[in-house]
Amino acid sequence: MKRTGILFQIVLSLSLAAFLVAVAIAELARRYETRNLQAQLKEQAELTISLLSGLMLESIIVEDVPVLETGLTEAIARNPKLLHIEIRGMDGNPIAAAGSARDVSADDFVTYDRPIVLDGFDFGQMVVTWSTREGQALVRDKVRQTIMWTVVAVAVLSLLVLLLIHQLALRPLNMIHQRMSDAITGFTSRRDRLPWFASREFRALNFSVSVLEDTFGERDEREFALEEARKSADIANQAKSEFLANMSHEIRTPMNGVIGMAELILETDLDEDQTMYAETISKSGSALLTIINDILNFSKIEAGKMELDRSPFNLQTAIEDVVTLLSPKAAEKNVEVTMRYDPELPESFEGDVGRIRQILTNIAGNAVKFTNDGYVYIEVSGHTAGGYSDLRISVTDTGAGIPQDRLEGIFNAFEQVDGAATRNYEGTGLGLAISTRLLALMGGRVSVTSELGKGSVFVIDLPLKACAMQKETRQNAVTFDGLRALVVDDLELNRIILNERLGTWGIQTTVAGSAPEALELLEARKSGTDKFDIILQDFQMPDMDGRQLAESIRSMPEYKRLPIVILSSVENTIDQATRERLGNCEIALKPVRASQLRTVLSRMLATNAPSKPSAPQVSRSAPSATSVAPSVKLLLAEDNKTNQLVVTRMLKAAPIEVIVATNGVEAVDEYKAHRPDIVLMDMMMPLKDGIEATFDIRAFEEEAGWSRCPVVALTANALQSHRDQCLSAGMDDFLSKPINKQALLDAVSKWVDHDQMKMTGT
Ligand code: ADP
Repeated sequence: MKRTGILFQIVLSLSLAAFLVAVAIAELARRYETRNLQAQLKEQAELTISLLSGLMLESIIVEDVPVLETGLTEAIARNPKLLHIEIRGMDGNPIAAAGSARDVSADDFVTYDRPIVLDGFDFGQMVVTWSTREGQALVRDKVRQTIMWTVVAVAVLSLLVLLLIHQLALRPLNMIHQRMSDAITGFTSRRDRLPWFASREFRALNFSVSVLEDTFGERDEREFALEEARKSADIANQAKSEFLANMSHEIRTPMNGVIGMAELILETDLDEDQTMYAETISKSGSALLTIINDILNFSKIEAGKMELDRSPFNLQTAIEDVVTLLSPKAAEKNVEVTMRYDPELPESFEGDVGRIRQILTNIAGNAVKFTNDGYVYIEVSGHTAGGYSDLRISVTDTGAGIPQDRLEGIFNAFEQVDGAATRNYEGTGLGLAISTRLLALMGGRVSVTSELGKGSVFVIDLPLKACAMQKETRQNAVTFDGLRALVVDDLELNRIILNERLGTWGIQTTVAGSAPEALELLEARKSGTDKFDIILQDFQMPDMDGRQLAESIRSMPEYKRLPIVILSSVENTIDQATRERLGNCEIALKPVRASQLRTVLSRMLATNAPSKPSAPQVSRSAPSATSVAPSVKLLLAEDNKTNQLVVTRMLKAAPIEVIVATNGVEAVDEYKAHRPDIVLMDMMMPLKDGIEATFDIRAFEEEAGWSRCPVVALTANALQSHRDQCLSAGMDDFLSKPINKQALLDAVSKWVDHDQMKMTGT
């Protein structure tokens, strides 16, 4: 019924009502006619009985059966409705009878009996059986006629009602409905007025629709204006983002000159003032570059051009990278950066590790920046279910803190907490805005709680797909099960982290909060079965530093050979002579990575012999400083004179012959003429850009049957799509501008045969 029209519903209801009325009237008519029929039959029977009994009274008195039967048979013959007549005597016994009702069904006859009376004297009884068949047929006929007339009357009436309903209700309703639909779909033409006979209720409804129409009209106009405004804002925003991206790109090229030249100047003989000037240029250049990168990142996200990479990575290592990066700056202020990675969590995930590192560097970098005393603690926790982990990375610091009313604001672009103290720190106010947007792209979020003067806690919630990457094979697989270690650190957080980390490797750890406490513990256990197998001690401690503690330990005869690991934030805290004197002692530079600590422990416990003091961090291996004649031919395709100079000077010390081409066409010609070992290709050049030039070089190589020469793109554009474009053009690698000397040398040595590369030091 829901989907049918009201007209159909009315017709159906009327039909049902007509049917019920017809049934009721038919039943009434049937009863009435039957009653009539019965009365008629009764009258006829009484008349017949009184006539017959009058005519045959004498024969009845003398019981003259033959006469009586003849009379009765005659009566039956004259009246076909009479089926059977019987005369009974005073005693009730039949005297005479005629006809029979035996062949007729019981429903088709009625029987009447009457006494035969004359002058008050009773002579017996007469029983008459009448057929009702004819009468019933008559009744049925009459009932049928009644039904027919009723149906005709109801149908005519219904049609009339329908017509009225259609005219008075449906037509105005349809007109109002049409107007309403038009208003909703934004079709504004006014429909005709309601017919003159439309009722008051419909007129009120129609008026409401008019009001609605006006409101909709106004709304549409407003929406149209808004849409227009949004479109022009979008265009302006797009233009702004493109302008920013281009500007950043344009600025990077001269920055390359500034930073590169400053680096080169610093390598020459300078007096103190000149060194300071050159260092300032270099540092300011790097700071400016960070700002440009921030702006580029932000405008890229705003323009919806940020593309996220998805590949497997090790989260623990990524966070350790950030800690390693921030630690030197923190150590300058006596701030310690520590981290804890929940051992229950998987280590490998799928995602954009570069962006995750960027977010963490922003947030943990702020923590280091705004903390002058205490620590910065990064904790990674969370839970994993169905191959996905809900990670929670919290960064806690003991720094300046943020006023409550500014907590929301700091996530907005260019917003910094406005205080004299904050202005002392560098920054664009974009770090958190970028991090928030990057996290949103990854389905995560960042929140903050803070107490002014006490510190802040930034919490990053990040869902990541855990991935079943093979765990790194442990080279020094010494088993640590059952070993006993003593951890000495004045910072409780460090004690907890080391305790947990050693615990996961099966080491039983005892902790001490100070050097005297450690010495007491060592003293107490010197002769028992629970002697310590190794001691891990902090260097910077208030009452006795790491060197003094190590010397005190060695002064105890039982601990002459106990392996000692000193954890220090500062390099060269203990000179080589002291380390040799102490014996069996290693220094690990904080922050110690889990894998690095494991290696140190394995080495010390595996040999358990006096180990040579080793530098904790392996410095970049520099090739030997033997100068030989240039053996590598490098083609530099670059139109910018400063950049040509920077690259040429950076490669001056290496045995590399640099051939310079100033545009794409020249690059292809020079390539054909000199057949270089490697090409550095700028992307934007006059006449022919880097991509076209690379295409031509690749085509020429195939034609000439030359082996494929590595082509490294020099690009200021960091977009992934741009990189893909370079790769599909046949390039092999990228170098981001501004070019850094080490990165340049690394790229060249990566692509050129190592025997050819006998470069001088970096
Ligand atoms: P900036 O480049 O200024 O660091 P951010 O967007 O990273 O920009 O941070 C915005 C502001 O939030 C900062 O200038 C600082 O005032 C405040 N802030 C961020 N992190 C901290 C923190 N750990 N402690 C105190 N203030 C902070």
